[in-house]
Amino acid sequence: MTALEDWDDGPFRPEAVTVRVPAKINLSLSVGPLRPDGYHELVTVFHAVSLYDEVIARAARGLSLTVDPLRRDSDVSGVPEDERNLAWQAALLLAEHARVEPDVRLTIRKDIPVAGGMAGGSADAAATLVACDRLWGTGLPRDELHELAARLGSDVPFALHGGTAIGTGRGEHISPVLAAAGLQWVIAVLDAGLSTPKVFETCDMQRRRDSLPIPEPDVHPDLMTTLRSGDAERIGAALYNDLQPAAIELLPEIGELLETGRAAGAAGALVSGSGPTTVFLVDGPVSAGEVEERLRTSGLCRTVRRARGPVSGTQVSNVR
Ligand code: C5P
Repeated sequence: MTALEDWDDGPFRPEAVTVRVPAKINLSLSVGPLRPDGYHELVTVFHAVSLYDEVIARAARGLSLTVDPLRRDSDVSGVPEDERNLAWQAALLLAEHARVEPDVRLTIRKDIPVAGGMAGGSADAAATLVACDRLWGTGLPRDELHELAARLGSDVPFALHGGTAIGTGRGEHISPVLAAAGLQWVIAVLDAGLSTPKVFETCDMQRRRDSLPIPEPDVHPDLMTTLRSGDAERIGAALYNDLQPAAIELLPEIGELLETGRAAGAAGALVSGSGPTTVFLVDGPVSAGEVEERLRTSGLCRTVRRARGPVSGTQVSNVR
């Protein structure tokens, strides 16, 4: 059952709700002008991939949050366990909106690489909205959950949605895209972080410095057509990200890593979102193995993972 379907909301109040939520990558990211609210107008193609976090919401008094690794080797260092965590803010926002007490003990079990441009924090916030909505029996309609998600961050609505979808505005308006199933990815997380605002600022600075026009953001029609084909080579050639030159200027290792993956036979190589995560589209397990091996031995990566996409968005996986 998906969290966003209607369910019988009788007197039963669960003790614990577990929600699973995927990471995202961006297959394209077209950045337009800076808006008066400090955000950039953009058009992106989000794609949910099979790396997951889990959020467990348990009945409690007051609000508390802990973060644990989902697998033995998942890295959770630096993730805050207080109001700085977007999941905490999500619980507060829903409680305020639904006029209930924010009584919940949240446990986030992380496997989505931290601070990588894969929207792990946004995913946890989306999962928390869905988990608390079920725990508290607030039963919000889908469009209200979406609206709260958009207030939390530009990437949160897509985490509810999943699949492959176009994001417009600052990324929060979502419409689904027809895309082939079963794309295979190798995902490399660099051993360094990048600040999202800094990457957007650097993109603006490069455009001024190099007298580049500021485009009307759009999705290239080639990408839309090839996404339906499922052909890795064609999709790989159509991937693009306007923030990539900025991410490379701030962290030149990203450029080296993209070259390493391409040289190892990846059909496509791209910075995801504002980076520093780089994603490599491969056309089968043999190619995946080669790309993975070369990235791992490059000495540049903190983590290299394989994933497939698209996958579904936020889902309730257990209620008791
Ligand atoms: O919405 P979110 O909190 O994820 O955005 C983080 C930061 O990224 C914003 O404060 C802004 O500096 C930058 N951003 C942007 N344009 C967007 C999305 C994010 O400039 N469309």
